[in-house]
Amino acid sequence: MFKLIQQIFTNKCPNCGKGKVFKDKNIVFSMSVPKMNSKCPTCDYKYIKEPGFFIGAMYVSYGLGVAEGLITYFFASPFFEKSLDMKIIPIIIGIMLLLTFFNIRISRMIWLYMFRSIK
Ligand SMILES: [Zn+2]
Repeated sequence: MFKLIQQIFTNKCPNCGKGKVFKDKNIVFSMSVPKMNSKCPTCDYKYIKEPGFFIGAMYVSYGLGVAEGLITYFFASPFFEKSLDMKIIPIIIGIMLLLTFFNIRISRMIWLYMFRSIK
């Protein structure tokens, strides 16, 4: 399980665990929409199974965004006097924007790993 999480965060192929899923180097914190390889350079495992395959990853991305928003809220709320202080909203939005590109990558990785049994 730990190895799986490590592979997701290092953007490794779900089939062989060696090939890179994304073309560009920086693995997690890159400020651009990632370019993907269409298949694994090491084992030829197809990443893009059908056109629009990664549209579903948007749902994963949305879930990640909500989770990150909640986590941010729980970490930030002790610094505010009122428990539902509106000043916390810009902080949450800022964090979520910062994590947007991280989320695009990670959601696609999670999506790939969810479907890795389908060849
Ligand atoms: Zn591979």
